[in-house]
Amino acid sequence: MRNTIFADANSDYKKARYVICGVPFDDTSCFRKGSRIAPQEMRAASYNFEAYTNFFDVDLRDINIHDAGDLGVAENVDATLDMISVHAEKYVTDGKIPIMLGGEHSLTYPFANACKKKYPDLGFVVLDAHMDLREEHEGERNSHACISRHIIEEVTKKYVSLGIRSGTREEYQYVKENNVMVFSAEDVFSAGIEKILKEINDFIKGPVYLSIDMDAIDPAYAPALGTPEPYGLTPRDVRSVISCLAPYVVGFDLVEIAPAYDSGNTALLGAKLVRDFIAASAKKLDWNNNLNTD
Ligand code: MN
Ligand code: MN
Repeated sequence: MRNTIFADANSDYKKARYVICGVPFDDTSCFRKGSRIAPQEMRAASYNFEAYTNFFDVDLRDINIHDAGDLGVAENVDATLDMISVHAEKYVTDGKIPIMLGGEHSLTYPFANACKKKYPDLGFVVLDAHMDLREEHEGERNSHACISRHIIEEVTKKYVSLGIRSGTREEYQYVKENNVMVFSAEDVFSAGIEKILKEINDFIKGPVYLSIDMDAIDPAYAPALGTPEPYGLTPRDVRSVISCLAPYVVGFDLVEIAPAYDSGNTALLGAKLVRDFIAASAKKLDWNNNLNTD
């Protein structure tokens, strides 16, 4: 019973600023399925951590977090996206910051789209090993391998990806032709994450949706993934991105963990990053409010 909600998500819906929801769906995952059980695994793993985090000097028990449980899904991706978009729009319209635990990456779309309706100048930052810029994959337009293409063409051109090290020749061509802002994992390794974050901040300047495809991280740290790709980011790189962008983030997700492929380490790291996002967002929100009253 204790593990059915995310640790320290003790608020009711009405009072909550953050609404966590799981989406147990992985039907279009192509290599290793299993991300549908990631929401529950991350919830279970979240009980490993102290409510207080010294890094952010925040106690999650002081923050109004609600866990709405897992959303209902259908057998196919199109119907599932329709079903969850109703919830995504409600959370955003009600002034909440949605935190979606996937599940596969295609599930990002309804959440980003809901945020775009509320924030017309929405930016979108995605951490991923993969371009996800295909028009369709294995006959499926809403495949997890197409999410970034849909975001750029249907949601926002204010798009940045980070951690990239895999794509087809056509996807790399698309990036060139459309001037898409892409930072590879090699860019992060050579320039350092701080320098890249400065460029991203200069470009975004405003509300942003942050999507973390867990395979952005090196499989040495996060082995339980649907599509692992070596030479990735470190967890500290990702925490830096979260810390830096948190004040502007209006929607967040963490997707593509396939828990069956390790002994729980990847779900633990996923749960920690979610907790760090909440802490960073809540803390920076106070700073922002202080700034606004000056
Ligand atoms: Mn992805
Ligand atoms: Mn990926």
